[in-house]
Amino acid sequence: MIKGKVAVVTGSTSGIGLAYARAFAKEGANIVINGLGDAAAIETERAKIESEFGVKCLYSPANMLKHEEIEGMIKLAETELGSCDILVNNAGIQHVAPIEEFPIDKWNMIIAINLSAAFFAMRAAIPGMKARKWGRIINTASAHALVASPFKSAYVSAKHGIAGLTKTAALETAQFGITVNAICPGYVWTPLVEKQIPDTAKARGMTEEQVKKDVLLAAQPTKEFVTVEEVAALAVFLASDNARSITGSMQQIDGGWVAE
Ligand code: NAD
Repeated sequence: MIKGKVAVVTGSTSGIGLAYARAFAKEGANIVINGLGDAAAIETERAKIESEFGVKCLYSPANMLKHEEIEGMIKLAETELGSCDILVNNAGIQHVAPIEEFPIDKWNMIIAINLSAAFFAMRAAIPGMKARKWGRIINTASAHALVASPFKSAYVSAKHGIAGLTKTAALETAQFGITVNAICPGYVWTPLVEKQIPDTAKARGMTEEQVKKDVLLAAQPTKEFVTVEEVAALAVFLASDNARSITGSMQQIDGGWVAE
């Protein structure tokens, strides 16, 4: 049922987004990947998805700060691959600082990339989904869509906003065969997180294991990272027929974080 569908995944040049793209390709979906990064590295990943899974995979360089480019990304899927059936809003950035010192440009960028971009992509994709009477919209939110942490005002605000946007879109599309859900991961093992560990260990005089458990995973009861493959498997389930009655939901995958 995912086979032959078209999945557009924003922010899929690394981390969780790349895992989503590969997981949907493994199920036989054609893919539009998107994100920033080194052109040659992106082309390698794009070609690998095509050769490994025998599907079509296009790259959209759309910048999530620009609504015209986001609309162009959806149009690319519709014109080159025939439709946008599965939309995964995943691109995201972070900045950590107290509110009184938080740079205004960082606030604006985080709200634009982590929240407004999802609205623009949904706005462009929903008409086609409604016309075809089938669609899956999956928004990567965060545990920070449900609880806050200090010094992450923009990120927590954007992620709480994604929760509201997800519920609103779910209500508007419920009678059109479309589901809209948010995935709320805790700490996920991505290259971004991995790269911080050796430096943090050095700075704090800790072992790398101590950094993982006592610094990064202090809030996560399992004291283990969620993996990108686990998050992607949840997205594949949400796109399946068996998940057709799940809409407007926040899917926690956080090792128990928000249960505390
Ligand atoms: P990542 O940095 O590995 O990936 C972020 C992706 O977004 C990259 O592909 C990047 O190129 C893209 N991106 C950033 N700015 C962009 C822009 N202006 N236009 C287009 N693409 C842009 O990080 P990740 O950990 O894989 O995060 C992916 C999503 O998961 C984010 O929304 C993040 O908030 C969320 N998340 C991550 C974690 C975690 O612990 N890693 C936890 C909860 C939620």
